[in-house]
Amino acid sequence: MSGEEYDSDMDYSEEDCGYADYYNTEEDCDIDQIDPSKTDPEYFVFDCLSVEEVERLLNESVESLSNSLQITPSLAKVLLHAHNWLISEIVSKYRSDSSHLLVISKIKPPHPPEPSILQLGRLQSCPVCLASQSSDKFKSLACGHPFCKECWSMHFEVQITQGVSTGIGCMAQECEVLAPEDFVLNSLSRPALRDKYQQFAFRDYVRSHPHLRFCPGPNCQVVVRAKEPQAKRVICNVCRAIFCFRCGTDYHAPTDCSTIKKWLTKCADDSETANYISAHTKDCPRCHICIEKNGGCNHMQCYNCKHDFCWMCLGDWKSHGSEYYECSRYKENPNIAHESVHAQAREALKKYLHYYERWENHSKSLKLEEQTLLKIKTRINKKVMDSSGTWIDWQYLLDATSLLAKCRYTLQYTYPYAYYMEAGPRKELFEYQQAQLEAEIENLSWKIERAETTDRGDLENQMDIAEKRRATLLKDFLENWPILSSSKRKTFF
Ligand SMILES: [Zn+2]
Ligand SMILES: [Zn+2]
Ligand SMILES: [Zn+2]
Ligand SMILES: [Zn+2]
Ligand SMILES: [Zn+2]
Ligand SMILES: [Zn+2]
Repeated sequence: MSGEEYDSDMDYSEEDCGYADYYNTEEDCDIDQIDPSKTDPEYFVFDCLSVEEVERLLNESVESLSNSLQITPSLAKVLLHAHNWLISEIVSKYRSDSSHLLVISKIKPPHPPEPSILQLGRLQSCPVCLASQSSDKFKSLACGHPFCKECWSMHFEVQITQGVSTGIGCMAQECEVLAPEDFVLNSLSRPALRDKYQQFAFRDYVRSHPHLRFCPGPNCQVVVRAKEPQAKRVICNVCRAIFCFRCGTDYHAPTDCSTIKKWLTKCADDSETANYISAHTKDCPRCHICIEKNGGCNHMQCYNCKHDFCWMCLGDWKSHGSEYYECSRYKENPNIAHESVHAQAREALKKYLHYYERWENHSKSLKLEEQTLLKIKTRINKKVMDSSGTWIDWQYLLDATSLLAKCRYTLQYTYPYAYYMEAGPRKELFEYQQAQLEAEIENLSWKIERAETTDRGDLENQMDIAEKRRATLLKDFLENWPILSSSKRKTFF
């Protein structure tokens, strides 16, 4: 696995070429060959940080902004949260029109408050509790809407109990002004409530920060930091969760964040329709005997008549060679636009099921191949006990199995992408590469399941081809995503 756990401050190219100093010839150190950022499409630099480290990081930004604009840290936090922690952008906007910035950041109201609202030294009635009190018992935000201090405390307590913190606003109807941190904390007397407020605010700050992402692992406190909000693979160094840095869901290359979201929503909605295809048994297309699938490989061989066929399409396996692999491709009816509404609906369902079936099948194969891995481990153990080789001798088999899982995972995530792709040369190229990968993965799976009778060199060769196909597909399609198109950031870029 590459691309994980690189310390961004560490000059790794120098580390890797430790002999450069010794020989003092820079040409000997071929950076192009070593630099994974050029060769590995999944390469991604990130750090796994603790809550304390992130707090320190955020405080540095708060301090820097409050110093350069001469505003309180509390207001700096509102600005940073509203503008994705882009200090230089905030500073330049503030310099060109501070009033406008404060209004759009909901620190100031769009219109200046009426001077008569708060009258010093007079008795005044609170619009919430209706009690009449002297005006020093009242407080208001920049909008000038006065409420008694007890009502403010009550308001904050209710909001914090509901998990709201940075989003707490004024109590006046249709007033959008937000309550900055110091205003809230000064109104809260219970330490437990203040802690809660700060915890929720921290959560909001991390979520609004384009370079930070909470690890989605259960009960994991890690916050991952990366320079770019890219949809790249992150592996948490504490809980080992693997996820997409930009959207935080399961890693999904080559599909992009919004497409995978659309796909998963569709699958959840259509689960009834899709369930009927989740069969574990099919009939042999030649002798019609019932066959159960108990391995991950889609290249099936009937135990009765020895016919080789494809589990997905039940076609002859001979037509699944890597050059003319057609099974992954969906052939759309070119005249569908002229057909009846019913026919179009049927066609749409057929198309969806084609992709869903393959998506689901790879997911199942991944699970079945986990069992294959356990079987292989047991077999190796037995061989080692019988003094036929050491664990090191058999390591290649474990490597092959983990490579297979990696390739199959990528392959699984090609199907949502292909489903939503528009017809055209780009889709044709994608489906060509997908088919190539598909064929090589089934070859690899077939060879791993028959590891005993497969030559080691042959298997290693197959590993090489499969990984190359995977890298090519990712390289061509991963690098063409728009980097900043996630819906979360859209409004700010
Ligand atoms: Zn009141
Ligand atoms: Zn207000
Ligand atoms: Zn984690
Ligand atoms: Zn994502
Ligand atoms: Zn048969
Ligand atoms: Zn097939």
